[in-house]
Amino acid sequence: MKKDMMQSFELFQPADVGTAVELMDRWGERGWAIAGGYDSLDWFKDRIKTPDAVIDLDGIEELRGIRETGDGIEIGALTTLTELERAPLIREQYALLGDAARHVASPQIRNAATLGGNLCQDTRCWYYRFGLACYRAGGNTCYADTPVAMNREHALFERSRCVAVTPSDTAPALVALDASIVIRSASGEQVVAAEDFFMPESKDITRMTVLDPGDLLTAIRIPGSWSGAGFYFEKVADRNTWDFPLVNVASAMKIDGAGNIEAMRIACAGVQCTPRRLTTVEALVRGRRQDEATAGLAGKAAVEGARPLNFNHFKIPLMENLVKRAVLNAGMSRATTLTSGSRSSGDN
Ligand SMILES: Cc1cc2nc3c(=O)[nH]c(=O)nc-3n(C[C@H](O)[C@H](O)[C@H](O)COP(=O)(O)OP(=O)(O)OC[C@H]3O[C@@H](n4cnc5c(N)ncnc54)[C@H](O)[C@@H]3O)c2cc1C
Ligand code: SF4
Repeated sequence: MKKDMMQSFELFQPADVGTAVELMDRWGERGWAIAGGYDSLDWFKDRIKTPDAVIDLDGIEELRGIRETGDGIEIGALTTLTELERAPLIREQYALLGDAARHVASPQIRNAATLGGNLCQDTRCWYYRFGLACYRAGGNTCYADTPVAMNREHALFERSRCVAVTPSDTAPALVALDASIVIRSASGEQVVAAEDFFMPESKDITRMTVLDPGDLLTAIRIPGSWSGAGFYFEKVADRNTWDFPLVNVASAMKIDGAGNIEAMRIACAGVQCTPRRLTTVEALVRGRRQDEATAGLAGKAAVEGARPLNFNHFKIPLMENLVKRAVLNAGMSRATTLTSGSRSSGDN
């Protein structure tokens, strides 16, 4: 494989959304939108993805920034993860998203990586990233689902042919915040719920989101309904920085006047191809006290139906304990990245 030598392509640098959409429509499958470039450039340098045209979104000012709307906020797709981390509006009202953004990669990467790019990034399955012709790449096998494959990072749920997972830290936070994604194309604008934005592998194994060729993600909307709720984000990775989640958890919780859980939304990444919203846990905790007993039940419910591969059994107790802590600590303003190496599997 030739490394660090990109194949040539036509480069377009539109200054407005209309022109970008027109270019995306014109080039279709042969075109590629680029934002911060942290996922895209790896693919180009390894010559595994070789688009004919690259549409650089960096000059489109209308895709940047965080605005208050009548009901919540709207975040431009080009807003960087550092901007999210630091924005007073996010810190004060939607701290869950700021915490999730702060746990992505490294400060250097967060300075350029965008929220839109973080949501649209491809899976990190080693075999696929190496350019092997697996199912996801249009071939007829899965290299990760064999008795000796390196699959400790792979899926516990909703897996059939492909066992790759979503690596995004911000995606489960947006699912927990009940966000929606705004998509523009030549045929107009559509808005989809964040939890429906990600593509189940059973539906289309070749892509991670519902974006069709020609589609542009323009904004992310978060409703006011979860503003100021009790939040919890935690991520466990092999290294403390510059690393993807093995499992992460994001939750938003409201407590009623009697001290019981009124409502909760909770999602994990790193356990299946899409962020996994834990609706069973949400239903189970409603009306109960926020205590050890409720957290224990929630943790057990979260991992029901998990089907581990040969080397990812550890993800079951890990996910169970993350969910327990999310239920117990939502609202305690604790957000942490724990490295898996710093804890025993019993701790996890
Ligand atoms: C060393 C390293 C460590 C990392 N660690 C983490 C981590 O811990 N957690 C985590 O979540 N991520 C991690 N990442 C991934 C990184 O955060 C994402 O790759 C980055 O956020 C992508 O954003 P970007 O703006 O650079 O996207 P780009 O690379 O520009 O784009 C990514 C994909 O999204 C598409 N895209 C981008 N914007 C749009 C748009 N507006 N409309 C339509 N399509 C669009 C592109 O076509 C491309 O397919 C890591 C990456 C690296 C290199
Ligand atoms: S897990 Fe998916 S991406 Fe990885 S080798 Fe198997 S089919 Fe390919």
